[in-house]
Formats: sequence, C-alpha cells, structure tokens
Amino acid sequence: MPDPAYALLPADWAAFCKEAGLPTFRAKQILHGLYADRIGDWRALTTLPPALRDRLAAEHPLTLPREVDRSPTGPDGVVKMLLEMADGERVETVWIPADGRVTQCVSSQVGCAMHCAFCASGQLGCVRSLAADEIVGEVMALAKAFGRLPNNIVVMGMGEPFMNYDAVLRALRVLNCQQGLNIGARHITLSTCGVVPGIERLAGEGVQFELSVSLHAPDDALRSRLMPVNRRWPLGELLPACDAYTAATGRIITYEYTLVHGLNDRPAHAQALIRLLRGRKARVNLIPLSPVAEFDGRTPPHADCLAFLDALLKAGIHTTLRRSRGRQADAACGQLRLRNQEAKHGPATQV
Ligand code: SF4
Repeated sequence: MPDPAYALLPADWAAFCKEAGLPTFRAKQILHGLYADRIGDWRALTTLPPALRDRLAAEHPLTLPREVDRSPTGPDGVVKMLLEMADGERVETVWIPADGRVTQCVSSQVGCAMHCAFCASGQLGCVRSLAADEIVGEVMALAKAFGRLPNNIVVMGMGEPFMNYDAVLRALRVLNCQQGLNIGARHITLSTCGVVPGIERLAGEGVQFELSVSLHAPDDALRSRLMPVNRRWPLGELLPACDAYTAATGRIITYEYTLVHGLNDRPAHAQALIRLLRGRKARVNLIPLSPVAEFDGRTPPHADCLAFLDALLKAGIHTTLRRSRGRQADAACGQLRLRNQEAKHGPATQV
C-alpha cells in the first residue's frame, strides 16, 4: 500500500533511506524537494538518481487535491476554494490575506458530525475524515495556486479536528517541522467545538499550537441548545480542560463567541460570560453572526456588539470584536460545499 509523501515526517524519510540502504543526505534532499522547492512531481527532483525517483513515485505518491470551485475574490482579498480529493470528496479551504500576511483556514473532515446550530458544514453530516496528506495537500494546493505559502494556519474549516486527532496532528507536525513547511507552532491554531479528550491529549503532546474553543453561550442550557457537544462535555468539564492546556503549554485559549441577536447578546449574557471567565487566562473573540440559510438567527445591531465588548473589557477580559471577513466569499464554514452539493443533489434539510 503506497504511503503518501505528504504524510511523512523527517524521521519517516530517514527510516525510508536507512531501509533502502541510501545515505542519510538523501532524506534531506527529498524534504528539500518536497517543501522548499515544492516539486509536485518526483521526476522534477533531478538531484536524485532516476531509479530512486521511480521508487518514490511508486511507493510515496505526490497527490494534491484538485480545485473544483472558487468564490469570487472579495474586496478584502479573501478567496474560498473547493478542493476535490482523489476519491471525489470535496472540502473547503479559505485564503485570507491581511497586511501582507496570509492565513489559510483548512478543513479536517468532509462534512462534520457535531451539528453546531449556525454552521453549514454539519448540515450533511460527516462523510469521512481527511488523511494527514490530504490536510497538508490543502496547503500545498493553495501554495501552488497563489505562488506562496501562508504565514498562519487555522484548522477551523469543515470538521472537528479532535474527531480526527491522529491525522490532524500528523499533518500539523509536517506543516510545523523545520524541514517541512516550517510554519511556527504559534502560527498554527486548532479550533474545537469543545471535545474535552482532544484538548487533554493535545496538552500532553509537548507542542505549542494555539487553541481556540467555540463557546457561543455562557451557560449549559443555552450552549447545549446551540452545540450538542455540550451535552457530552459541559462547561464544568470544558473550562478546566482549557485551563490545564494553558498550564501545560503556556498558550492562552481564545474563546470564540458568535453574537446572535436576542439569543446570546443581551447584557445578562455578557455578565454570565464574565462570571465564567473571570480569573481565567482567556481571550474572547466576539463574532457577529454571519447570516446563513441553515440557521434562523439575526446579526445583532452594531451598538449591541459594542456594548457586549465594552462590558467584557471593563471586567478586565481581553476581548476583540471581529468583523466577519469573506461574507462575499461564502466564507462561513461549509457554505461553498453545501452550494455545490445542492447543485448536484438538491437542497439539504434545514434545522
Ligand atoms: S462549527 Fe465546526 S464543529 Fe461545529 S458543526 Fe461546524 S465544522 Fe463541525
């Protein structure tokens, strides 16, 4: 069974060379070709003998996902792409430029099983998890399309990364390692809806990835309505796990809080959130709801968002209010794939 090249770490290439009786510098040449030169085809790696190139092509294919759709570029330069994997399954990835730097949002699964209320990705359920090389492939495919690498990676696209833990972590190690794409751990963010065992496991990995947790509500009753994951791992388990992650890694958790008019944006919600986070090492990112057809909720008036922000800041909680980038690019999670799916099969059921 071929072992895709983009899933392999430097130690794997060293083992490959050892097993093949090759000098160790070949592993360095391979990694340089893959990630510094971004060859895309083993035949282009002419520093290697032809027989070795043939063997690599047979045993370690270089397969990249194929671009099948792309949103129009928004005024802010945000582009969302739909990528097709070798088996025909499709995921979204988003290219987000700002101030000369680029953040790429990658997917970890085809669809998602977590069913958060205001997310289009969960509408079709989880079809399958992505393999590590497919996740790295999202980055390589966009590097090819745009002629440059992103500065930051956020695993915030389709899927719950901790429901695909091993593949996601392997992919992030390839992106992070010096002989891979060399993207610093602090420039890589994992976003979870609150899968506590994943947070606990990551805390013990000895890595320093940033962690962002979708909170969206300050109490269990409301959060369980919006995010079914809360019924399995309620706030009383989630927040201590986040605290432990910070203690183990020194990384401060960012809590994402989507503001929905009348649902979770009232002053009482702000006060409940303050009670929840006061004394914790935490940052809050407030996101006014991006209206999606799949969720019956409205964007709060800007003044309400500012009042919510102000309440948290006055309580000493580090908080930012994000404008939703890429609305024009269908950038809310899952929408481009859903649109394509509907074009093929008709509309998905609404919740
Ligand atoms: S927000 Fe994330 S975890 Fe929740 S359904 Fe969407 S993709 Fe899944």
